[in-house]
Amino acid sequence: MSAETTAAQAPGAPVVCSRAGCRAEARWQVVWRNPRIHEASRRKIWTACDAHVAYLRDYLAARDFPVEVVALSDAAAEARP
Ligand SMILES: [Zn+2]
Repeated sequence: MSAETTAAQAPGAPVVCSRAGCRAEARWQVVWRNPRIHEASRRKIWTACDAHVAYLRDYLAARDFPVEVVALSDAAAEARP
């Protein structure tokens, strides 16, 4: 898994799940941070489909990383004026 890949999406492009090999449309953002290498204000965001949101969240939680799951629609709504 490429853990350091940042989800960079062109505006209007479909957001795809971050799970390796998964091409499903993402519905969730998994927001996390590695306290050992990231500053406190730093956040990494993975996108996840319904099938993989729990997998990705558990993957990070198992490493004791702070992790938060946000619905992608909510995150997009916040970005709009
Ligand atoms: Zn997926």
